[in-house]
Amino acid sequence: MKDYTLDTLCVQAGWHPATGESRIPSICQSTTFFYGDSQAMADCFDLKSDGYFYSRLANPTVAAFEGKVAALDGGVAAIGCASGMSAVTLAALTLAGSGDNILCSQAVYGGTFNLFGTTLPKLGIECRFFDPDNSADDIEKLIDDNTKFIIAETIANPSMVVLDFGKISGIAKKHGLVLMVDNTLATPILCRPKEFGADVIIYSTSKYMEGHAAALGGMIVDAGTFNYKNNPRYPAFNVPDESYHGLVYADLAVPFGTKCRAQLIRDTGAIMAPMNAYISFIGCDTLALRMERHSQNAQKVAAFLAKHPKVEWVKHPSLEDNKYHALAQKYLPKGQGGMLSFGVKGDIEKCRTFMESLKLITQETHVADVRSCVLHPASTTHRQLTEHELEMAGVPANLVRLSIGIESADDIIADLSAALDKI
Ligand code: PLP
Repeated sequence: MKDYTLDTLCVQAGWHPATGESRIPSICQSTTFFYGDSQAMADCFDLKSDGYFYSRLANPTVAAFEGKVAALDGGVAAIGCASGMSAVTLAALTLAGSGDNILCSQAVYGGTFNLFGTTLPKLGIECRFFDPDNSADDIEKLIDDNTKFIIAETIANPSMVVLDFGKISGIAKKHGLVLMVDNTLATPILCRPKEFGADVIIYSTSKYMEGHAAALGGMIVDAGTFNYKNNPRYPAFNVPDESYHGLVYADLAVPFGTKCRAQLIRDTGAIMAPMNAYISFIGCDTLALRMERHSQNAQKVAAFLAKHPKVEWVKHPSLEDNKYHALAQKYLPKGQGGMLSFGVKGDIEKCRTFMESLKLITQETHVADVRSCVLHPASTTHRQLTEHELEMAGVPANLVRLSIGIESADDIIADLSAALDKI
């Protein structure tokens, strides 16, 4: 389906029924699959044929959603995972092991920061965080022979830093490194990272891709761009995998995608559930429409807040004075998504009064679904930090995070306006 536009791919890609089959994928709620011929099953185990044999490795409903996301990103394979965090973890472990190091933008989702800063180091993988605003020269100094990949988010959650693809992919190319991009908040509708140098693309599909806060999921897309063959940086792709009868991944048509599924999904079992794949597949049908509306609404809300006397500052890349506006024009020209943050003039108490005065916008830890929601990190996710620590973490006490849904922008703005009047 490569020649269709993204709008059409959202609706049509991933499932092409044969005569008499269901028009949309059905939920294949089965752990296992029947084979009358033991050689046929053995061929699946040996990756000589791609039939289903056990849902911990692959499942038809999950495959439909994987096919849709791969098509949207122009990738050669996609792997459905149990959650966004499992997608980040498995993508990392496909490339890195004990003794290796990775470079991670410091502007990433908190869960990713914890994974790379605390959990992976316990497995012997060192994470070198970099400031994405630093020069290429400064970032490059962190790379050595054991570096396995660079990772950053297209639009960082919650800091709203927009990735400078040119700078970061230039570094990755120069050093023969895989570039991994978490595209959760942009989605392929607003940005296709493959076009700007990404080799592996990751999603928490629990966010915009599914879109309705109904199903957890993650996706790893192999862009099919990286050459692992005879590459000394990636011996794990060039030496036989004894756990797979001596398979050499670099010799395959889809090295990263195959290693990720055959080794990491097999060994960790962190695959997407069929029910979640079904819900996400249907949710994704409307992704193009939703992303347009989320972006338009957030742009209007950002403009409203930027002029409000009780608002100290607003961060959304649509605003002309935003630090990342020029990058957003370049890499996210169709819209910048529905997330924004702003500072209430005043202390935590004022923030609380504001939040509790909202009627339409609800307080939630989730983001990026059809319903507008709000979070005050200083009194929730970051409440254990002192005011000084909050500043250090880039989460000042007066920061309010908004995820703008697809309701009427007028109703959202009226709700914000009434709540700001209360403080
Ligand atoms: N990546 C980003 C950018 C996120 O915002 C999140 C969650 O908010 C994740 C990964 C983790 O996803 P999940 O909650 O599906 O595990």
